[in-house]
Amino acid sequence: MLNYPTISHTTDILRPTQVEINLPRLAANYRAIQAHAAPAAVMPILKANAYGHGLVEVARLMQSLGAPYLGVAFLEEGILLREAGITIPILVLGGIIGNQIPLFLAHDLTLTASSVDKLGQIEAAARAMGVRAKVHLKIDTGMERIGVHYYSAGPLLEASLACDHFQVEGIFSHFANADAADQSYSQLQLDRFHGVLDFYAARGLPPPPLRHIANSAAIAGFPASHLDMVRAGILLYGVYPSADVPRTIAVRPALSWKSRVVYFKVVQPGHPVSYGSTWQSDHPVRVVTVPVGYGDGYFRAMSGRAEVIIRGQRYPVVGRVCMDQIMVNIEWATAYNGDEVILIGQAEDGAAITVEELAEWAGTIPWEILTNVNTRVPRVFVEAQGVGGGAGEQG
Ligand SMILES: *Cc1c(COP(=O)(O)O)cnc(C)c1O
Repeated sequence: MLNYPTISHTTDILRPTQVEINLPRLAANYRAIQAHAAPAAVMPILKANAYGHGLVEVARLMQSLGAPYLGVAFLEEGILLREAGITIPILVLGGIIGNQIPLFLAHDLTLTASSVDKLGQIEAAARAMGVRAKVHLKIDTGMERIGVHYYSAGPLLEASLACDHFQVEGIFSHFANADAADQSYSQLQLDRFHGVLDFYAARGLPPPPLRHIANSAAIAGFPASHLDMVRAGILLYGVYPSADVPRTIAVRPALSWKSRVVYFKVVQPGHPVSYGSTWQSDHPVRVVTVPVGYGDGYFRAMSGRAEVIIRGQRYPVVGRVCMDQIMVNIEWATAYNGDEVILIGQAEDGAAITVEELAEWAGTIPWEILTNVNTRVPRVFVEAQGVGGGAGEQG
């Protein structure tokens, strides 16, 4: 994928469609989660370009705030962070593919070990390279994704005790339904995890120092699951996982998505707008064109449902979302070329459009909206408190 420029402060030379990341808000969210989860440590989860917020910039911020660990999905994300000078521990949460192990070790990335076989490969590679690998064991307690099943974890834990060239620094699992109103499945998963950890007590051994299972939903709504460390994803970015998760932590959205009016016209009745001619007005209306589309991650599925804010007012996107442009019906209101258009975020007078609304319009979840604002959209990083801003208060 092309890498479009990532810069701070200067917005003039970029296309008018931009994502604005409010770094002080991200910092405040991290601190709020930390205060809530203490004494458990917080591992910020930065996979998928830090949920669209900018992998390296968010990592630098988290490192400066004293985050003890970072979590990413793939080896490549970990290597990018090391090449950018990030020095704190990084856990790669996903599975190890093929012969990647030497690359993990060369970049001092912590591996997720989910089978006796993988553990053996890690041991062999570390011995050959003369290094000591850092490993977190992955237990599947009810997600059926990766990890050794809780009911057959014994051999993996047994094998992990014979570690000459690796250090078992952690053991973890992952919730499948922590954002649901009914916490019984999460409780079952936590009980299964504790059952696995009994292995250590039964042998009079201490467990690995970092036991972790809680994602954002469990951080906010299931404190019994915090253990030694929690993995904060969407909540770090200021968005709650679902309406069912109790608002126990005051976080605010750090991402705004903005564009500008580039064209203004009057559309007469009988003259349909956009591909497929799916929408027309029965009276003359003013329609403005905005340079954003599904090629940026503004989903076509939102056609006929989405709204934007111009001059403090919400207006509907009419006709189909195109690859690079949308049309907005402002009825008979005033708008000029160059006027700001808020796609996600808050206007100065308080009107706001949230990530949750876009998810609703597109028939998806906030994670998918955030991770799909692609690299064609320049990121602008706001350093000062009170400038810019994401959508309204949460929590
Ligand atoms: C993505 C991910 C998280 C973070 O999930 P959120 O719900 O966004 O907090 C935590 N743990 C693992 C293993 C993940 O893959």
